[in-house]
Amino acid sequence: MPTDYYELLGVSASASADEIKKAYRQLALKYHPDRNPGNKEAEERFKEISNAFQVLADPEKRKLYDRFGAEGPSRAGFSGFSNVQDIFSSFGDIFGDIFGFGGFGGFGRTRRSRGSDLEVDLVLTFLEAAEGCRKEVNVARHHPCATCGGSGAAAGSARTRCATCGGRGQVVHSQGFFMISTACPECHGEGTRIETPCGECKGSGLQQKEDKLTVSVPAGVEDGQTLRIGGKGESSPAGGAAGHLYVHLHVEADDRLQRDGADLFCDVRISYPTAAIGGTISVPVLKGEKEITVKAGTQPGDVIVLKGAGVPYLDGRGRGDQVIRFQVDVPKKLSRRAEELLRELAAELGEEVPEKRGLFSRFQRSKR
Ligand SMILES: [Zn+2]
Ligand SMILES: [Zn+2]
Repeated sequence: MPTDYYELLGVSASASADEIKKAYRQLALKYHPDRNPGNKEAEERFKEISNAFQVLADPEKRKLYDRFGAEGPSRAGFSGFSNVQDIFSSFGDIFGDIFGFGGFGGFGRTRRSRGSDLEVDLVLTFLEAAEGCRKEVNVARHHPCATCGGSGAAAGSARTRCATCGGRGQVVHSQGFFMISTACPECHGEGTRIETPCGECKGSGLQQKEDKLTVSVPAGVEDGQTLRIGGKGESSPAGGAAGHLYVHLHVEADDRLQRDGADLFCDVRISYPTAAIGGTISVPVLKGEKEITVKAGTQPGDVIVLKGAGVPYLDGRGRGDQVIRFQVDVPKKLSRRAEELLRELAAELGEEVPEKRGLFSRFQRSKR
């Protein structure tokens, strides 16, 4: 079984979005569960090609896949399909073209819509984003009602077939020459009705509850990115697949380091003697500080690169670099001794300097 998504769909790696869609439709026709009732192998195949299509049809996921393989999209927080229901609710429009409304050809099935997606915001420190972390978020979700088990019906009462639409969920009106089919006003398209609604959930079958959910944040995420956690959104009121949870990431800035992708940057001030003679200084790194050697003759704007001292790439293969740029400090205040030494240095370098102790330096001294 090929695991290469392009191979699965039988297209080349440079295939256009249209070619990919066409290839998927053809294969989906062949392996669609309605055409292969009870055939587990076909169902597996159907899931595989749907997963491949899900990735390749999305430019962002396709880019991640091309760079990092199948791991890429999932590391970035995209999850594949866990069941066939999920596939139908995602690609309903594509199946609609092939199989008619909703993509369900079989008997006795009604279209079950996926639960709503939910969104939460998550604030991360600079280090948490760089190194990855596990964080708890609170998500207010609807759950199947504990009292009625999600049926919406009171104890002893059952769901009965809707008399208005005969259980089809749709009613047909004639309007002039046209027959127009609309959702049944009595059962809202569900095909069934509750005789006595559950007192706890008022017949909705759902209860809202705040859940604590632990989100695993991969190392290397950036401010503004969104993680998608499949199946952690709202559960579907009609028994379909649960929605997704979108976690919007906000990353706090660091006052020592700037970040660009996986690379870190910082400006470090060194004294004129250190720049000229060289020395050892301490610089900020992702975790704390690190001693580095400054070469003699370092110029303002010179950089050194600490290989692999940056942030991990999202695919987990290696890290970016840290770039340190030197600024050379020119002292604003000089002790008498320091000034003498600098004058000596200037003379040694053959430079002309103005007469010792001008008005300005007297003013400086009187301020101390
Ligand atoms: Zn209930
Ligand atoms: Zn009805």
